[in-house]
Amino acid sequence: MIPKSHPRYESLITRDKIVDGVKQGITSTQGLIAQGRGEAFDYLIGEKTTHSALHAEKTAAAMLLLAKKPVISVNGNVAALVPEEIIRLSEAVNAPLEVNLFYRTEDRRNKIIKHLRSLGAKNIRTKTDALVPGIEHERAKVDSSGIFSADVVLVPLEDGDRCKALVDMGKTVIAIDLNPLSRTAQTANVTIVDNVVRAIPNMTRFADELGRSDKDELHKLVEEFDNKKNLADAIDNISKHLSSSK
Ligand code: ATP
Repeated sequence: MIPKSHPRYESLITRDKIVDGVKQGITSTQGLIAQGRGEAFDYLIGEKTTHSALHAEKTAAAMLLLAKKPVISVNGNVAALVPEEIIRLSEAVNAPLEVNLFYRTEDRRNKIIKHLRSLGAKNIRTKTDALVPGIEHERAKVDSSGIFSADVVLVPLEDGDRCKALVDMGKTVIAIDLNPLSRTAQTANVTIVDNVVRAIPNMTRFADELGRSDKDELHKLVEEFDNKKNLADAIDNISKHLSSSK
C-alpha cells in the first residue's frame, strides 16, 4: 500500500495501475517502458496540466464535438490507466471506442474489449476488416466503420508511424503525449502534452461545457488553434520548470 502522504502518491498509483494491467493481460510489457518514458517527461513538466495543455484539451473537445465521425482509439496503457474515464469521454462526445494495439495479439484485444464492456462501454467498434495504408499489415488493421472512416481520431499514446499514416489518410488526429518531441507529438494536428490520467477527465469536462455552447464558439476555438505554437509552449514550460528548480 502506498501511503496517501507520499509526495509522489499519484505517480506511484499510476505506475501500479500499469503493472496490474500487465498482470491482467491488458497492457503489454512494452507498455511499461512507455509508462517510464512518460513519467520522466511528466516530472519535467511538473506533474501538472499546463495552460497550453489545458487549451489543447479544450480545442480537442471542440473538435470531437464538431466531428461527423469521431473515434477514440484505446491501447493497453489507456485501458489500464483510464478505462472508466475514456468511456465517459466517449459518451460525452458521442464517439465510439476502438481497441487499436501496436503490440497486437487477438487475446489482448479481446481482454481489453471485455474489460471496457464490464465497465459499461456500449459503443465499441470491434471489426478488423480494413487496413490503414502505409503501415505493416498487423499494425494496420482497423474497423471499416471506426478508425478507417473516421474524420477525427483521438489517439492517446500512439506510435509515430501510425499517427503519420492516419494524418496521411486526411484525418484530423488528436494525440496525447507527454513527450513534445516525439514523432507522434510532432505529427498530430493537435498534441495534448499532458498525462492521460489528467487529460481525459479534463476533456470530458470541456465537452460537457462546450456541448451547451454555440457552434460558432467551437469553430472559433478550432480555427485559432496553432499546434506549432502549442508544442513550442510545451517545450518552454519544461525549460521554465527546470530553471525554477535550480
Ligand atoms: P514516437 O514513435 O511517437 O516517436 P516513442 O517511440 O517515443 O514515440 P513509445 O514508446 O511508442 O514512444 O510511446 C510512449 C509515448 O507515450 C512516449 O512519448 C511517452 O512520453 C508517452 N506516454 C507514456 N505514458 C503516458 C501517459 N500516461 N500520458 C501521456 N503520455 C504518455
